[in-house]
Amino acid sequence: MILDTQELTYHYASGKTLSFPDLQLYAGEKILIVGPSGSGKSTFLNLLSGVLPIQTGNIKLNAHDYATQTRQQLDQLRADCIGIIFQSLNLIPYLTGFENAALSLQFSKERRAQVTDINTSIGQLAEGLGLTSDILAKQPKAMSIGQQQRIAVIRAMLGKPALILADEPTSALDPIATEQFMTELTQSIDPTEQAVIVVSHNPALIPLFDRVVQIGESI
Ligand code: ADP
Ligand code: MG
Repeated sequence: MILDTQELTYHYASGKTLSFPDLQLYAGEKILIVGPSGSGKSTFLNLLSGVLPIQTGNIKLNAHDYATQTRQQLDQLRADCIGIIFQSLNLIPYLTGFENAALSLQFSKERRAQVTDINTSIGQLAEGLGLTSDILAKQPKAMSIGQQQRIAVIRAMLGKPALILADEPTSALDPIATEQFMTELTQSIDPTEQAVIVVSHNPALIPLFDRVVQIGESI
């Protein structure tokens, strides 16, 4: 099992308490988390990635229990085991696509060990996502949003982290581009070692996933 969450809740000082469904995730699984805006989808991902501290409940990732990890160990666990695709993509503007993608190896010996030749690894991921090598040489500002999103996917996938998290990564795309991007994203994983959680408020994505987990009220 890659991920196991138990009775997670989170309370922002200014708001109500959010509670999250228990989630068990195995290698090869692709999960879609749906729920209306404000229902806690991003909060859930921030708990899973160890960015927000656990208040109640528990998370285990690759058998590492978050409750027993120091802040430093949690940061290392995230660098080693989680690839995150943010809604805002968070690409570094003065780096090329290739350099942005390669960043994810910088903080993880484990992920570096998965990559024999970085040109080959990035090239293979880029090919699967329909990106040509000339795009990899460009800075983000010279790319379309769709190309930037694919760079963010390569960065998340490189070195095969066990868990890929994506927070509404398609909100800037039209419906056809969204479906194509999601298909490429979910097909980029190694089903024997990786699992994917995508958050979206778009019900049209449901058929692309193994399971749908509802947060908050139904949509
Ligand atoms: P979603 O991603 O589903 O739109 P969020 O997880 O961003 O939902 O937010 C869930 C709830 O928590 C919302 O009511 C939001 O206003 C509140 N919230 C989110 N972030 C903060 C924060 N940093 N401080 C206070 N309240 C927050
Ligand atoms: Mg959100």
